[in-house]
Amino acid sequence: MLQYPNLEQALKYHFGYDQFRPGQRQIIEDALQNRDLLVVMPTGGGKSLCFQLPALIKKGLTVVVSPLIALMQDQVEALRNNNISATFLNSSLNAYQVRSREEAILNGKVRLLYVAPERLLSERFLPFLDLVNHTVGISTFAIDEAHCVSEWGHDFRPEYRQLKSLRSRYPNVPTIALTATATVRVRSDIIQQIGLKQPSIHIASFNRQNLYYEIRPKTKYAYAELLELIRDTEGSAIIYCLTRKKVDELTFKLQNDKVSVLAYHAGLTDEERSNNQTRFIRDDARVMVATIAFGMGINKPDVRLVIHFDIPRNLESYYQESGRAGRDGEPSRCTIFFSFGDIKTIEWSINQKTDAHEQLIAKQQLRQMIDYAEGTDCRRTIQLSYFGERFLGNCDNCDNCRHPKPVEDWTIEAMKFLSCVARCKERFGMLHIIDVLRGAKNQKITQYEHEKLSTYGIGKDRSVDEWRTLGRSLLHQGLLEQTNDGYSVLKLNAHSWEVMRRQRKVEIAVSANQKVVLLEDNPKAAEAEELLHKLRSLRKQLADEQSVPPYVIFHDSTLKLMVQVQPKTLVEFGKLSGVGSHKLAQYGEKFLAEIRGYRQDKNSENQSVDYTPSLSLMSGTELQTLQLHQQGLSVGEIAKQRKLSPSTVVSHLTRLIEKNQPVDLNLLVPLEHHQKIWQVLEVLGDIPLTPLKEQLGTAYTFDEIRLVKEKWRKEKRK
Ligand code: ADP
Ligand code: ZN
Repeated sequence: MLQYPNLEQALKYHFGYDQFRPGQRQIIEDALQNRDLLVVMPTGGGKSLCFQLPALIKKGLTVVVSPLIALMQDQVEALRNNNISATFLNSSLNAYQVRSREEAILNGKVRLLYVAPERLLSERFLPFLDLVNHTVGISTFAIDEAHCVSEWGHDFRPEYRQLKSLRSRYPNVPTIALTATATVRVRSDIIQQIGLKQPSIHIASFNRQNLYYEIRPKTKYAYAELLELIRDTEGSAIIYCLTRKKVDELTFKLQNDKVSVLAYHAGLTDEERSNNQTRFIRDDARVMVATIAFGMGINKPDVRLVIHFDIPRNLESYYQESGRAGRDGEPSRCTIFFSFGDIKTIEWSINQKTDAHEQLIAKQQLRQMIDYAEGTDCRRTIQLSYFGERFLGNCDNCDNCRHPKPVEDWTIEAMKFLSCVARCKERFGMLHIIDVLRGAKNQKITQYEHEKLSTYGIGKDRSVDEWRTLGRSLLHQGLLEQTNDGYSVLKLNAHSWEVMRRQRKVEIAVSANQKVVLLEDNPKAAEAEELLHKLRSLRKQLADEQSVPPYVIFHDSTLKLMVQVQPKTLVEFGKLSGVGSHKLAQYGEKFLAEIRGYRQDKNSENQSVDYTPSLSLMSGTELQTLQLHQQGLSVGEIAKQRKLSPSTVVSHLTRLIEKNQPVDLNLLVPLEHHQKIWQVLEVLGDIPLTPLKEQLGTAYTFDEIRLVKEKWRKEKRK
C-alpha cells in the first residue's frame, strides 16, 4: 500500500478537495481494510470518490462495473483531468484500441478500469481478467448503480445478476456496491444478488440540503414564470414535460424567447439525442426540455434548476429527477408547476391501464404526489418520510418553510359547500356545485331548477377559484368524496356530516402569490459576476480545446472561490478547494492571469474616477440640451432647434440623468410606458437594450427604454 501522511492529504493531492463529504472517510477506511461494502448515498453524495481514492492507494487494478457508456466516459474524462490513469473498455472502441488498453493494464499502468457487465462476464474477457489478477492483481470490484441487480429497482438489468459469479472466481477480491436507490427492498436484494460477504453498510441521509424545493400553481402565467426562473438562473436547467408533444411545444416557445434550449425525447433519432445531450453537458446550450427519458446516466454536477412543468409520476421518481440539480452541493432550485388539469389527464391515462393492481398502485402514487404538492408541511419532511427517514421540518430551504402559507378557518364556507352537495342530491360534480353557490344562470341550472335551492347564490362573496380550492381541500382532507367513474360526482361521507353539524372545524391553507427572489443589485455583487463570467469563458475555452465538459476543468464552486479569494500566487491558488496538484500545474497560471488582468482593469477604472472629478460636470452641449428640456421642448423639438439627431439628444439626456441633473422623465416618456419599462427592469435586471425591447414589444422605442433604464440604474445605485 502506498503511504500517505493522511487521507485528507491524499484527497487534496489527487482531487483537490479539502474535506470529505459525510460518510466518505469511513467508507474509504473500510475499503482500505478490504471489506465488502454497500454504499447507499443520494445522487451527488460523492459515491465515486469512495472507490476512486482507495483505488489510488491500494495495489492492483480496481475494476468498476458501470451500466452506461456515457457514464463511463464521463468519469474517465474527469479522472484523467486529475492525471489519474483510468480507462474504459466498451463497444465504442475498435480492436486496436482495445488491445492497446489491455496492454497498458497488464503493464500496471492503469489504476481504474471501467467496464459494462456484459463484457466483464464474456468468455473472451474472463481469461484476460485472470491474467490481470495474476500479474498486477485486482484490488477491488466496484459495482456502480448496483440497484440494476434488483427487479424492484427502477432499471433492472439481467446482466447484473451474473456478477455474483465474480465472487466465486475471485473470492479474495473485495466488492463495493453503490446505489442511490433508497428503498429497503432493493438494498437487501443487492446484498443477496451480488453476494456481498458481511458487508459494512453505509446509508447516508437522503436530505439534499442545497436544493430548494417549491411548488407553484400552474396558472396562465406559468410560462412567464418559467421564463423568469430560467433568466434568473445562472447556469444549466432541465425542464421535464410529460409528453413529447409538450416538449416540442415548450422548446419552440423558449427558442422564440431567445433561450438557448434543446429538446430530448424518444421521438428524436439516437444521434440527435446524443448530440443534444453532449451540447447540454458541455454548456453549449443552457436549457434542456425533456421527457423523463433524459437524465439517467448524466453526471453533470452543475445543473442549477430542475423544473417539472407537468406533475411527476410519483415521489420516488420526483426525488431522483429533481436530484439531478446541484450534485456539486451548490444551491439549486427544484420547482414543480402543479395544476388539477394535469391530474385529470394522468387519471385518465391511469384508467386506461388494464391491470387492476397496477392501476391501484398508480392511483395511490398519484395521490401521494398530490398530497406532496398540496401539503403545507416542510417539503423535506414529506419527501424523507417517504424513504423512512425522519426529518423534523423547518429546513428553511423550501417554499413552505420560507413562506408558510397562512391557514384560515373556512368552516362556514365548508358548511355552505357541503350542504349544496346535499341539496343537489349528490349527483353533480364540483363545477356545477360552484355554479349553484355563486348563483350562475345557465341551462343546466334551469334544467334542474337549481335556482330554487336554498343554497343558490349563497356563495357570491367567493370567487370560483376560491371555491375550487376549498373543494379540493375537502377532498384531500377526506371530508368529501368523489366518484372514480370518470364523472367525478361529489359524494358526502360521515366526516362531511360532522362538518355540517358543526362538530368539525375546517382549515385550509390559502396560497399567497410568490415572486421569484431576485439577486441583490449591489455593485460588489455585479463586479463578482463580471469576474465569474470571465473565468467561466476561460474554462469553456479550455474545455473545448480538450473536447470535455467545462466542469471537468473546474467546478462552479471552485470558480466562485477564485472570485472570492482572488489569489495572487500559485501557492494561494493551490489552496482553493477543487484545485489538486495536477490542475494547479495545468491551469493555475491561466486562471491567475485572468484574475490579475481583471484586477488591473478595476484599478485603472477606479483611478480614472479619482482623477476626473469633473465626470459629474456637464459638457456645454449637454447644458444647452438641458436648458431646452427645462423649457418644455420635446426631444424632436430640441433636435430640430439644435440641428442634431434625436438620438444624440437622447444621449445627452441619458448622460444628464446619470449626472443627477433635473431631467423630467414625465415629459419624455408616457407614464404608462415608464411604469411598464420600470417593471420589466425590476424583473430582468440590468440587461442590454435589445432583449429589454424584445420583452416589451414594438410599442416601446429604444429611446424610451434607454431613458427609463438610466433613471432606474441611478435609483438602484443610491
Ligand atoms: P454520486 O455518484 O454520488 O451522484 P459523484 O461521485 O458524481 O456523486 O459526486 C458528485 C460531485 O461531488 C462530483 O462532481 C464530485 O467531484 C464532487 N465531490 C465528491 N466528493 C467531494 C468532496 N469531498 N468535496 C467536494 N466535492 C466532492
Ligand atoms: Zn422545509
